[in-house]
Amino acid sequence: MGKKQFKAESKRLLDLMVNSIYTHREIFLRELISNSSDAIDKIYYKTLTDDSLSFHKDDYFIKINIDKENRLLKISDTGIGMTKEELDDNLGVIAKSGSLAFKKENELKDGHDIIGQFGVGFYSAFMVADSVTVKSKAFGSDEAYKWESTGIEGYTIELCEKETTGTEIVLKIKENTEDEKFDEYLEEYRLKSIIKKYSDFIRYPIKMDVTKRRLKEDSEDENEEYIEEETVNSMVPIWKKNKSELTKEEYDKFYEEKHYGFDKPVRHIHIKVDGAISYNSILYIPEKMPYDFYTKEYEKGLELYANGVLIMNKCSELLPDYFGFVKGIVDSEDLSLNISREMLQHDRQLKLIAKNIKNKIKNELSNLLKNERQQYEAFYESFGRQLKYGVYSDFGSHKDVLQDLLMFYSSKEKKLVTLDEYISRMPEEQKYIYYASGESNERIEKLPQTELVSDKGYEILYFTDDVDEFAIRMIMTYREKEFKSVSSGDLGIEMGENESTPDLDNEENKELFEYMKNLLSDKVQEVRASKRLKNHPVCLANDGELSIEMEKILNAMPNSENIKADKVLEINVNHSVFKSLKESFKEDKEKVNLYTNLLYNQALLIEGLTINDPVEFTNNICKIMI
Ligand code: ADP
Repeated sequence: MGKKQFKAESKRLLDLMVNSIYTHREIFLRELISNSSDAIDKIYYKTLTDDSLSFHKDDYFIKINIDKENRLLKISDTGIGMTKEELDDNLGVIAKSGSLAFKKENELKDGHDIIGQFGVGFYSAFMVADSVTVKSKAFGSDEAYKWESTGIEGYTIELCEKETTGTEIVLKIKENTEDEKFDEYLEEYRLKSIIKKYSDFIRYPIKMDVTKRRLKEDSEDENEEYIEEETVNSMVPIWKKNKSELTKEEYDKFYEEKHYGFDKPVRHIHIKVDGAISYNSILYIPEKMPYDFYTKEYEKGLELYANGVLIMNKCSELLPDYFGFVKGIVDSEDLSLNISREMLQHDRQLKLIAKNIKNKIKNELSNLLKNERQQYEAFYESFGRQLKYGVYSDFGSHKDVLQDLLMFYSSKEKKLVTLDEYISRMPEEQKYIYYASGESNERIEKLPQTELVSDKGYEILYFTDDVDEFAIRMIMTYREKEFKSVSSGDLGIEMGENESTPDLDNEENKELFEYMKNLLSDKVQEVRASKRLKNHPVCLANDGELSIEMEKILNAMPNSENIKADKVLEINVNHSVFKSLKESFKEDKEKVNLYTNLLYNQALLIEGLTINDPVEFTNNICKIMI
C-alpha cells in the first residue's frame, strides 16, 4: 500500500510540532493520555446505553511501557479503538480534530506557544518521536490495523495482529541532539512526574511498570531490583469529591501541594455547579500577600482543566484584577481541550464561569467580614488595597461589588470599620461621611483640620493609602451620604448660636487677609477665618476638586506635571497668635510679613508638604527667638 499524504494544514502543523521548543515537548504525553481516556469514556457510554454489555471498571486502564534499549515508549488503552477508516480520517487530518483556529499567519508564527499552552492532540507525539505507530482494534471488530508515520512524508495503514480492543501507540523516541535530551522520555521517574503534573486526575488508572528495590532473600545488605505495576495517577481529583468528605487539613494540603502560597489560606471555596454549564472549582483566599504581588511578575489566574485534563496554568480570564489574589482550580466538562488563549477570551462558557466565581468570592468575603472579623482583618491587611484599586479602576464600574468590603480606620472606634458601620452610627443631623487623609493614623490624629468635626462628636475615617481618596471619588455616595474631607471648604456643619461666625470675622479682617494673600502670592487662593480650628492657629484647607493629598500622590508619580490643589490658608481668629498679628497690622508690617511666612510654612508642615525655602523658614524662627 502506498504512502498517503497529510492534508495541507496538517503538514504545516506537523512542521511546527517537530521544531517545537523544548520546554513544551512534555505535553505530548498529556495529549495521548487524554485521547485514551476519551476512548475509554466512549466504551463506558456504550455500556451504559446497551444492556447486553457490562462495564467492569478493572478492565479499563491506560498503560505506559518503556523499552529503553530500543528507544520505544508505548501508550496503550482499552478504549473504543479505531477502524481502518477512522485511522485514516482521524489521524490524517489535524485541523478537523481540534477547535484550534490555525487561520491567521501571525497565529502560526506564534505556534510554538499555542502548542505549549494547549497542545494539539495526537500530533504532539512528533515533538519527541521520529516515528509513530498506532495499532488499533475497534470495538465490535475482528480486524486490527496499523497506522505508521515518520512525520511530514505521510503515513501508511495496513492490517495487523492485535488481540484486544483498544489502541496502542508506540513512539520511537528521538536521539539526543547537542541541545536537547530526549532520553528523559524513556526514564520512569520523568514520565511519572509528567503524568502527575498533567494527568493526575484522569478518571482511569494510568499504569506503569516501575522498578523497585528490596532486600535480597537471605541477605542483610544486598538489594535486588524487581518490577511492579503501579498506578501513577490519583484518579479522583479533590475538587470532584464531596465537601462533606473533605477536611480543612485536606484543603490546606492541596493548597500547599499546588504551591499556591506559603501561608495558610484564610478560606477555601468549593464550588460544584451542574446546570447550563457544569464545573467544579476550589478557590482559596490567601492570608498573606505574595512577595511579588505588586510587581509586574505577578500573574493572576486560576488553573483550568477540561474534564480532568490541565489546559492552562494561569487562566487570567477567570478572575477580575481586584480578586487577582485568589488561587485555585476550575475543571469543566464543557470546555474543549484544544482551546486557544485567544478563543478563551470570547468563550461564552468561560465568561459564565468567571461571573459565577466572582460572585462566590464576593459572598465568601462578605461572610468572612460578617462572621469572622479577625480573619477578615488579617486578609484585609494584605489585600484591602487591591480591593480599593478595584473600586477606582475602570471608572468605578466595580464599586457595587466592592464597596461593602472596604474598611477604614475610625477616629472613634480606633480600629477598622466598614462604611455600613459608619453610617449606622451617624447622628441624625450629620450630613456627610467625614474623612481625613495623611501618611499614617498617628499623623492624621494630630491634624488641626479634624478639630471641629471631632468636637461635634462625628466619626472620621482615616485615609492612609494612596488610592483611598481616588477610590472614594468613584463611590461618591454611600447609602445616599456623600463623602467629605475634613479639609474641604464647606464642612456642612451648622454653627451653634454662641459660636463664632467666620463670615463676620472675614468681613472684619478683610484688609489683613487680603494683605496676607498678596504676600503669599499664588501659593494660596485665599486667606480666611477658619470654622474648623479650635486650638491650632492655622491649617490648610482646600476648595477645588483636587485635594492636597491627591496633589502629593500625583506629583510623586514619574513624569508628573506640577499639579496644584486649590489651597486656602485658614486662620483661627480666636487664637492669641492672631490677636498679635492683628495688632501688628496697625503699626508693624515687618512683623506681619514674618508671621505670615511662619504660619503658612507651619500649615505646610502639618499637612506633610515640603517647605519651599527651609533655610528662610528656620531663619525666621530665629528672628522671633531673639
Ligand atoms: P482530538 O483528541 O482533539 O480530537 P487528536 O488529533 O488528538 O484530536 O485525535 C483525533 C481523533 O483520533 C480523536 O478525536 C479520536 O477520535 C481519535 N483518537 C485518537 N487517539 C485515540 C485513541 N487512543 N483511541 C481511540 N481514538 C483515538
